[in-house]
Amino acid sequence: MYAKVIVDISNDAVDRVFDYIALPDTKVGMRVKVPFAGRVVLGYVVALTETSEVDNSKLKPIIKNLESVPKLKPEILEVCRFLCGRFFLRLSDAIKLVLPACVRLDRASEQYSSFVRLILDIDTAINLIGKRAKSQLSVVAFLSEQGEADYTRLCEMFSRSSVNSLIEKGIIERTYTRRMRSPEKINAKIERNVLTKMQQNAVGTIENQDKTFLLKGVTGSGKTEVYMTIIENALNQGKTAIMLVPEISLTPQMMSRFNSRFPNLVAVLHSGLSEGERYDEWDRIFTGQARVVLGARSAIFAPVENLGVIVIDEEHDSSYVSETNPRYFTHDVAEFRARFNHCPLILGSATPSIDSFKKAKDGIYTLVELPERINNIAMPKIEIVDMLGELMEGNTSPYSKRLIAKLDECIANKKQAILFINRRGFASFVLCRECGYRAKCDDCEVSLVYHKEDNELKCHFCGKRYRALTNCPNCHSTNIKYGALGTERVCEDLRKMFNVPIFRMDNDTTRVKNGHKHILEQFAETTPSILVGTQMIAKGHDYPNVAFVGILDADVSLYNSDYKSNERTFQLVTQVSGRAGRKNGDGSVVLQTYAPKHYVYRFAKNYDYNGFYEKEINLRATTKFPPFSTILRILVSSTSDTRAKEVTKILYDRAQELKERYGNDILFLQAMPAPVKRIQTKYRYQILTRYTPCDKITNDFFSISDIIEKDVSIFVEINPNNLR
Ligand code: ADP
Ligand code: ZN
Ligand code: ZN
Repeated sequence: MYAKVIVDISNDAVDRVFDYIALPDTKVGMRVKVPFAGRVVLGYVVALTETSEVDNSKLKPIIKNLESVPKLKPEILEVCRFLCGRFFLRLSDAIKLVLPACVRLDRASEQYSSFVRLILDIDTAINLIGKRAKSQLSVVAFLSEQGEADYTRLCEMFSRSSVNSLIEKGIIERTYTRRMRSPEKINAKIERNVLTKMQQNAVGTIENQDKTFLLKGVTGSGKTEVYMTIIENALNQGKTAIMLVPEISLTPQMMSRFNSRFPNLVAVLHSGLSEGERYDEWDRIFTGQARVVLGARSAIFAPVENLGVIVIDEEHDSSYVSETNPRYFTHDVAEFRARFNHCPLILGSATPSIDSFKKAKDGIYTLVELPERINNIAMPKIEIVDMLGELMEGNTSPYSKRLIAKLDECIANKKQAILFINRRGFASFVLCRECGYRAKCDDCEVSLVYHKEDNELKCHFCGKRYRALTNCPNCHSTNIKYGALGTERVCEDLRKMFNVPIFRMDNDTTRVKNGHKHILEQFAETTPSILVGTQMIAKGHDYPNVAFVGILDADVSLYNSDYKSNERTFQLVTQVSGRAGRKNGDGSVVLQTYAPKHYVYRFAKNYDYNGFYEKEINLRATTKFPPFSTILRILVSSTSDTRAKEVTKILYDRAQELKERYGNDILFLQAMPAPVKRIQTKYRYQILTRYTPCDKITNDFFSISDIIEKDVSIFVEINPNNLR
């Protein structure tokens, strides 16, 4: 037998399969050690064949099979092939995506605990030991009483030598059990709800169908309950499930709902796990002990078999698109796996992406709606406050009178409030009023953010820290201006105005392990209180006492100049507002803006998704933006400005050839410095193009960008979420 092997070496140029002589137990999907260019390297068997094209005398045998059960299951290998075809990935990169490093490189291993117990009756044991070996007698007496004991503990209590010699004599026996490092499980007992008629209908429509559904339901309409019921029914049929959420570590509530509903069957996969935890969670899935996978984007590659349903919750969320190599769209992979298993894929959201909603309208997805909150609870009333008006009336603070009044009322009613501000730190920039000097990062072309708590300036792109300024390094003036406010400053201001506990949730306060969970737990227990946070607070939280939500500065996301900014702002406002009044319908929202008449806010205020969609889709159609076109960006970066420019030039020339070939189908093509010209010492250039959607053009762009250039990295993105 011959094995076709992909070798795992960092040199990108090699993505060929090499033939080796298989060992007797070599199987497809196994990790193996093979000789390659004078070294021994890791490889993956992707096929076994009876014959080989290569001259037999030149073939070398596999050195070693690294496992007896292949780590790459057949379905996952198919997923890899799909990734290669759809996203132009190399097979070796696809494999790196689907096998976590801790498993692929054996960076973690199984851990065991060992126990000892008596295997003879106590009298026989005492006779065998004899009266003089006091310590051994004590061990035996102890075990006779306890039944079983941890080996290490026992050695500590008595002595290792007596325990070991008892084992040698065959009087006691040592056994090993696998010890699983599981991420902290939250085991609240959560009541199961009886589904409403609407929810039952949704379940009935979706279940066991080999189709993709868009489940559009307002915040608090009971979507999660629908997912859980469908998952439960799938489990009862002996099947498995994958449920993706944008950032599971941010939503401990989701974890406890799942653990309570499916005890011992849930595995979680997200970036907050230690390598050991990830290894064990992955293994629980691999061996079939865990049958529900709950996780972030990459959990779509979980090695579950016989899937009964896949759910992508908050399907519009940008985290489902990978922003680094290797690129992939989670929706596409999910669709592939759902069709592979003939099971439903559910895309759930209160604010579907324009793209997905269009697909539902076009009949590509089946639309299922939950238009009302559970128990008909009212959606919170959104008031739009014109900040220019405030300014004209002499209120120069970033807090409108209405906002303060609502906070007062909320606190007087012993309720909780959430304030949303999409900027962390204290002030967004530091500027000298005299000479115009602006503090910038040495390594990135961006302004530094002032963090008052640490009294430091920080770069939000690379994390580098700088001393805070008391005077201008350029002209020594002390007339320093601080930029727009961030979470720290809001907390500081609120503490002066309100005498209630104030919590902050942003990247700075949640960096420690389980940081989110602790902040959210404290917030949940403290009434009245205020939670200030970045978009982290927008997602999925369900706290019944939250009566008021303040959106301090929605315009930030509105004026992020890319074609998705309207869509993103609509989603954000709806999501954040959805945190209010979930239990009693007593929720209200104040949204502060300088553009009160903007249609995004008008539609958001009335929870009019359909109205917003119609307006937005017409705009996209007339301006020829996605989904009526495809935007593709080739990003070239290098620590050498010259090299980055050179390679951009090469790629641009090739892109020009495509433009000539495709003529008017390519609507736009330009090369330019990226919006952020330098990040982490790397200079960045981009080639931006827009064309009539067409797989062939996309593939051609992938293909021309598929070159290896020394010291330069090239990244191709489609319809990027975040152009920087
Ligand atoms: P969504 O995922 O759409 O935001 P959830 O599933 O989280 O909605 O439901 C919102 C709230 O309503 C939760 O507190 C949930 O426990 C409750 N809930 C959901 N379905 C029902 C039901 N059928 N009966 C009573 N309460 C329900
Ligand atoms: Zn100055
Ligand atoms: Zn930086």
